[in-house]
Amino acid sequence: MKFEILTLFPEMIMDSLRTSILGRAMEKGIISAKAVNIRDYADNKHHSVDDYTYGGGAGMLMQAQPVYDCIHAVLTEDAEKIEEETEKSVRDILKERKQTRVIYVTPQGRVFDQAMAEEFSKAEELIFLCGHYEGIDERVLEETVTDYVSIGDYVLTGGELPALVMIDAISRLIPGVLGSEESAPGDSFQNGLLEYPQYSRPAVWHGKEVPKILLSGDHAKVDAWRLEQSIERTRERRPDLFAAWEAAEQERIEREKAEKLRLKEERRRLRELNDDRSQGTV
Ligand code: SAM
Repeated sequence: MKFEILTLFPEMIMDSLRTSILGRAMEKGIISAKAVNIRDYADNKHHSVDDYTYGGGAGMLMQAQPVYDCIHAVLTEDAEKIEEETEKSVRDILKERKQTRVIYVTPQGRVFDQAMAEEFSKAEELIFLCGHYEGIDERVLEETVTDYVSIGDYVLTGGELPALVMIDAISRLIPGVLGSEESAPGDSFQNGLLEYPQYSRPAVWHGKEVPKILLSGDHAKVDAWRLEQSIERTRERRPDLFAAWEAAEQERIEREKAEKLRLKEERRRLRELNDDRSQGTV
């Protein structure tokens, strides 16, 4: 997976990505990440990237030109000598590269969740566009952005933290990024529920004992206990998630019932056919 982060503060991105699990994944070549400074693409001598908004109002807006040229340069950097490619518009290049997404991180986008992280983790190249000030001129967004994504209903000063949040959540779903000791399948949201409570040594701490079942060595019982705890925790803390999980479970049970009935009916019909055959009526 290739991440490119277009920003006015590249060091903020790279300092964070180089640490811990993602830094290790970059060293191993499982993911690659590059922060690109939008300011380098400003075509004026002061390298300014923002201006007043038409119609008045407080605050500055990031201008279309440096943003567009920056995205275009990132999309064509591997094809520098192929004139045909570099002459194409961003829109035309993206039409041909279905595995490349340009994500504008914005409070006006779809709210990021685990399902989106999973969907994005299947792309080949993700380009994150980080806004600042009042945001970015609408016209360049219309010509370049494939996805508008928010990290929640609040407003931050810039898009760097949202981009980092998303890159972290997406990367840990890419095979090889997490070691077995950090693996993701039991995590919250993987099955529509929050994760069960977990405990480590010592077995008694501040007079509190680890639940006995976890020391029993009976894996089936431990799994059943964990599922029960997950359900209870989700019901208590996230009634919205719980309602969605319960509805999906109900649907699954109904589907299984219908399938069982269908098989039963098919068996009955086969039996009848065999009886008719043996009695010579067919
Ligand atoms: N004027 C914009 C609005 O009301 O929608 C907010 C601009 S905000 C101050 C500056 C930049 O921070 C945005 O362009 C966006 O890139 C980023 N940003 C702020 N809050 C965000 C959020 N909740 N999710 C994703 N990005 C956010």
